[in-house]
Amino acid sequence: MRPFIVAIDGPAGAGKSTVSKLLARRLGLSFVDTGALYRTVALSARRQGIATDDDAGLAEVLRGIRISFRATGEENRVYLDGEDVSSEIRTPDISLAASAVSARPVVRAGLLGLQRRLALEAPVGAVLEGRDIGTVVFPEADLKFFLEANPDVRARRRYEELFQKGSESSLEAVLADQIKRDRDDASRAVAPLKPADDAVRVDSSSKPLSEVVQQLERTIRAAMASR
Ligand code: C5P
Repeated sequence: MRPFIVAIDGPAGAGKSTVSKLLARRLGLSFVDTGALYRTVALSARRQGIATDDDAGLAEVLRGIRISFRATGEENRVYLDGEDVSSEIRTPDISLAASAVSARPVVRAGLLGLQRRLALEAPVGAVLEGRDIGTVVFPEADLKFFLEANPDVRARRRYEELFQKGSESSLEAVLADQIKRDRDDASRAVAPLKPADDAVRVDSSSKPLSEVVQQLERTIRAAMASR
C-alpha cells in the first residue's frame, strides 16, 4: 500500500514545524521539512556566489547538490554534501534568500521529485510541511491541513525561537521579514502559498500548539484506521 501522506501547509511561523514533528513522532510517520530543502539550495547558491535570480546558476547548484536528513533524538539535522548545515540555514538572511530562490520555477521543478521520493520511501507514511504540499507536491495527499495564525502571533513565535538560539534580531525586524516573505510566497507565479480547496484550515492564534497537535492527531488516526 502507498504510504499515508499528510500535507501541512501555511505561512511562516504558523507552527507547522512544531506540529508536524510532534505528529510524525506520535503517529510513527516520517517527517519531511520541505522548507529545509529550499533553505539548503539558497545556502549553497550563496556560498558559490550565485544570485537568487540566476536561473542557469541555480540549475547548476541543483545538479550538484546532495541534501540529506538525519533524525537524532528530538532533532532533525540537515546535511549539505555531508556537512551539517542545520543552524546555518535558519538565519534570517537565509530565510529571505530561500524565499527568493523558491520563486524560481527551475528550483521548484528541481526539488519536486526529491520531495515526493522522500515521502514515498517512508515505511508507513509521512508528514510533509511546506507551502505547496497539498496543491502541487501531493495533490493526492490522504489529508491536508492549512495552519494559520495572525501575523503578530506568528512573529512572536518566530522571535522567541530565534532568541532561544541566541539571535539578536528584534521583534520588529522578525515581523518585517515575515511580512515580506509571506507577501512574496503568496504572490509568486508558480506554486504560491494558498490553501488547497480540500484542506482543513486550522487557526492557532488563540490556542496552544499542543491543542492543535491533539486535534490533528485525532483526525489523522481516524483516517489511517479507515483506509
Ligand atoms: O518553511 P520555511 O520557513 O523553512 O521555508 C523557507 C522558505 O522556503 C519559505 O519562505 C518559502 O519561500 C519556501 N518554501 C516553499 N515551498 C515549500 C516550502 C518552503 O516555497 N514547500
